[in-house]
Amino acid sequence: MRDIAIGNPDACVRHSLPLTAIEALRHIVGVSNVRIAEAAPEIGRDASIVVSPATTDEVAAIVRVCRQNEIPVVPLGGGTGLVGGSVSSPDEIVLSTARMNRIERLDPVERVAVVGSGVTLEELQTAAGLHGLEPGIDLAARGSATIGGMVSTNAGGMMAFRNGVMRHRVLGLEAVLADGCIYRDLTRVVKNSAGYDLKHLFIGAEGTLGIVTRVVVKLDDAPRATATALFGLPSVDAALATIGMALQSNAGHLRAAEAMWNSYFGLAASALGWTDAGVTPDQPIFLLMSLGGAHEDALQQEFERIYSETLERFPLATGIVASSRQQESDLWRLREDTSVLYRAHSNAPSFDVSVPLTEIQDYLERVLTGFAAIEPDLFPYVFGHLADGNLHIILNRAGPLSEPMTAAVEDVLYGGLRDLGGSFSAEHGIGSKRIHALLATADRTKLATMEKVKKALDDQSIMNPDKVLPCPGWFVRSPERPASGESRRPQIQNESNPTNG
Ligand SMILES: Cc1cc2nc3c(=O)[nH]c(=O)nc-3n(C[C@H](O)[C@H](O)[C@H](O)COP(=O)(O)OP(=O)(O)OC[C@H]3O[C@@H](n4cnc5c(N)ncnc54)[C@H](O)[C@@H]3O)c2cc1C
Repeated sequence: MRDIAIGNPDACVRHSLPLTAIEALRHIVGVSNVRIAEAAPEIGRDASIVVSPATTDEVAAIVRVCRQNEIPVVPLGGGTGLVGGSVSSPDEIVLSTARMNRIERLDPVERVAVVGSGVTLEELQTAAGLHGLEPGIDLAARGSATIGGMVSTNAGGMMAFRNGVMRHRVLGLEAVLADGCIYRDLTRVVKNSAGYDLKHLFIGAEGTLGIVTRVVVKLDDAPRATATALFGLPSVDAALATIGMALQSNAGHLRAAEAMWNSYFGLAASALGWTDAGVTPDQPIFLLMSLGGAHEDALQQEFERIYSETLERFPLATGIVASSRQQESDLWRLREDTSVLYRAHSNAPSFDVSVPLTEIQDYLERVLTGFAAIEPDLFPYVFGHLADGNLHIILNRAGPLSEPMTAAVEDVLYGGLRDLGGSFSAEHGIGSKRIHALLATADRTKLATMEKVKKALDDQSIMNPDKVLPCPGWFVRSPERPASGESRRPQIQNESNPTNG
């Protein structure tokens, strides 16, 4: 075993990983579950070692060793996060939850599941499906994204407009704190007003306040049948009106309403070789919808009815209703296989904003004008979860961009967004890539309070340091703005995966 070198001199926490600590970790989880990072290429992180515990007690013991030795811990779930939340450095250890993958309880009467944090969303969806239930949250990275990771990023996805985000699906959770104590609130009931509801501190904390080890997830009845339709529409207003009609449907309930603007749709359709005479590719916006209900035929007929009504109001609309599973999955691939973008523009910078529904059209017009003022041929590919105003915006540029270009693009995208009632980070979190934007736009009292919470729960800053918030104490030193060099405005680069939500 080699001694691990001193880390980056600019890092907030400096130390080496002593051999005694590595031996202690091996003792806790077994030799084969402490891997030198080079021997764990599938994890592909930069930390010196990757530790894979199987139980909460093992996580707690690992954290105690790390605390004693001041070794930062970077939690890793499925690694599908898009803002660099689980990137690590050689003086840190990665704690992988891959072995904490047990569905401990799935109760069809209570409609709850108690799962280890390393269970993937798809595993939970499959297990719940056996009982006619579903977790009520869905995203394209379902095969790898873990419940612990989704809790930690407060994931959203395509059912959020109806069921809320991850925060609203969690009844209770267990987490290991920075001092090695176990916070245990595995409540399986909706109502619990016994004191501060502290689970919410860990939801969306991206591993900076503790390591989530177990989660109680609320389940819903899964519909017996679903149907999918794709409409080509002349405007955002037309798309929102169509969503309104689908929401008022008596024949089924709307499960997803995903939008793809023309440039994205054209690229995806041509890259995937998709054509259909029923939808003209020159429409400004495309709306992919899913209805759930009792009978597939009835749902398909309902889409026909919604289409007729849409056509009456927007005569330019086109549309198709999927009539087979293959057609349905081809349609969903257009929306979910966003890797086509990154093949066209490697490392293309991507953004994840929330805009109030009535502001979307104006917002996008301002973005187009703003981008054109930066560079005449700069334009955004736009798609996202339209029903809740969450837009993903990818630039037609290979990344990373220069720092001035980054600043100009962010000024256009983020300027005034908070005052509009939107958010510069809708569902992907802050990670290491969006800290500068949080510092630039967030309410000062919120930032100061976040720093106090962080200090109270993690005084040594060993829990996923340099994520969400910069170095400890930055706010105290500079309450108005981060001191030079601390804003950590990174160059815009591709997110950690060549795909997007
Ligand atoms: C194709 C694609 C589609 C996507 N679609 C969506 C979408 O629709 N909606 C959406 O919200 N996101 C989406 N994402 C982003 C991503 O899937 C989510 O952020 C997801 O929640 C990350 O889960 P993970 O297990 O991969 O977490 P990781 O990527 O492993 O980690 C994410 C963050 O959580 C921390 N973390 C992980 N596990 C724990 C734990 N047990 N305890 C404490 N901290 C932990 C990590 O340190 C890191 O900061 C998409 C990503 C891809 C690649």
